[in-house]
Amino acid sequence: MGERRPRWVFIAGCARSGSTLLGLLLAEALDGFFCGELHHLWHALGNGRRCQCGEPVARCEVWVAVAERARHELGLTSDEEGTAIMRRRLRSRELLAPRMPRPGRDELELRAATQRAVEEVTGESVLVDSSKLPSVLWTSAFTAAPLDVVHLLRDPRAVVFSQSRPKDDPGGGGGVLAPRSLLTSSADWIRGQLAAERVARRLEASGSVGTVLRLRYEDLVDDPATALAPLAGSLGADVADRPVRPRWQHALDGNPIRFDPGVIRRDDRWRRDLDRWKAVASTVLTLPLLHRYGYRINPWVAP
Ligand SMILES: [Zn+2]
Repeated sequence: MGERRPRWVFIAGCARSGSTLLGLLLAEALDGFFCGELHHLWHALGNGRRCQCGEPVARCEVWVAVAERARHELGLTSDEEGTAIMRRRLRSRELLAPRMPRPGRDELELRAATQRAVEEVTGESVLVDSSKLPSVLWTSAFTAAPLDVVHLLRDPRAVVFSQSRPKDDPGGGGGVLAPRSLLTSSADWIRGQLAAERVARRLEASGSVGTVLRLRYEDLVDDPATALAPLAGSLGADVADRPVRPRWQHALDGNPIRFDPGVIRRDDRWRRDLDRWKAVASTVLTLPLLHRYGYRINPWVAP
């Protein structure tokens, strides 16, 4: 008789879509552990990144213990080996090819060993991973752990606006997250949504996942308890009677909100500050998906 494995909740989506906020809220609502972006672990260990607890990841008691267990299980001699394996992961464009490739064997083994190590070190029954990347979701579905998926969406005009501005990166020791062009942001947003949808559909069809929930950032920040209720319900938790407030943990990477948890408010600055031509251009580029996800074509009208 095998013992019951903890559940993993994977947040899929694009950068600057609120995945760190969602991860914090989910971990709180489900009384679980928020990993942050787990696929960054090996890179974070060797590059001086900081954990949410304030320590460098390479000195955080949680992540040092996780890495030691995973390295031992796989016989890795350095964190750089883990980083190199993750660098070879599938890309979203490969997941959109007519025939979806299977993840590489070394990446599958690394993911499985890392997940087991997180389960053993934390002892939690629910683990939340905000890695976002569809390829990491695809890989995690090959592990034996039960898996639920939240596909997190955000209005692409808000994502374009957010990515066009440098943003503090306290996990990087005082650096900034570099700005990105409108074309790059829009193309990544489209590719990311399509790849996430395709992977999620494939996993649902094969029965590899429990719940697959599509969630909009805007709905999440307006009413967190209602937005999270379907997933919490499927995991046997009841968020309605619990205060939904983010808390401090040991999240890896993500964005600066993890260093300032507390008040939840919708970030709608893009409606006022995004250049008109950029708003029109990103609307045109993302038009088919805007409609599908229920976002208004005229970005100056609140949903
Ligand atoms: Zn830590």
